[in-house]
Amino acid sequence: MRTLGTMAETAAFQATAPSPVILVPTMGALHAGHAALIDAARARAGRNGTVIVSIFVNPTQFGPNEDLAKYPRTMEADLEMCSTHGADAVFAPTADEMYPPGDSTFVDETKLSRGLCGAQRPGHFRGVCTVVAKLFNIIRPDAAIFGEKDYQQLAIVRRMARDLFFNLEIIGHPTVREADGLAMSSRNRYLDADERKRAAAFPAALSTAAQENDPGQIMAKATALITNGTGSAPQYVELVDAETLAPLAPLAALERPAVLAAAVKIGETRLIDNVRLAPRHAKV
Ligand code: AMP
Repeated sequence: MRTLGTMAETAAFQATAPSPVILVPTMGALHAGHAALIDAARARAGRNGTVIVSIFVNPTQFGPNEDLAKYPRTMEADLEMCSTHGADAVFAPTADEMYPPGDSTFVDETKLSRGLCGAQRPGHFRGVCTVVAKLFNIIRPDAAIFGEKDYQQLAIVRRMARDLFFNLEIIGHPTVREADGLAMSSRNRYLDADERKRAAAFPAALSTAAQENDPGQIMAKATALITNGTGSAPQYVELVDAETLAPLAPLAALERPAVLAAAVKIGETRLIDNVRLAPRHAKV
């Protein structure tokens, strides 16, 4: 497995990398959720294609009061995991390499990024789109794999790739969970034992609430169950259209795929999760 740090090295690697080239963008501190994405990339690339994992803690997607400085960095273990799961190369650039001094250009998706996490983390998805666009231009993959855990991110990246004519496929991968249902996340390691126990109530609340009849009941039940189960009121709970992320009205019919998405802060740790709802058709 090659470790690439600079644009020049990466361009040289890319020029002779057998197709298809499949990219898995990450911020490192890799866990079994990331490993599943790398496995899926390997399966998609086949024996002869190329799997590239990027590891970069992207400063532009963190707000001024967020956890950039303390975000976990475990490069040695990450490289080991990438190698074990069959990656051909890891691209791990410095911040100066990705954001050359004097740069002044950003990529801003202006619709899907405004609600949900975007409302609470202004500028977050601008940072995400910018770094993902840079990665696409440097690595020129045939496909890139993103987790459904970050559902809004996946939808925004799909939209950006479509709108800016990036010639690649965006593949979504189902959320990988711990045995008790908690979505795996690099930030789960911030939780102490008591918080970790309470965190398990979060995904359970979303799946239970998703059984309710209409959007209003689903959101009300999710809010109540999250608050009771985790001991914290959610930062948001919304039922949105799976493609446009437009919020559904309380009495709207569930005629198209929808997503129940929520964020909750347990202690100092912010967790996000979501469940997909299949369309329901009126009984005749
Ligand atoms: P991150 O390193 O947290 O930025 O995540 C890198 C990629 O891994 C993103 O596409 C995430 O959506 C995905 N990912 C993170 N956690 C999970 C998980 N538990 N299941 C599936 N994908 C995940």
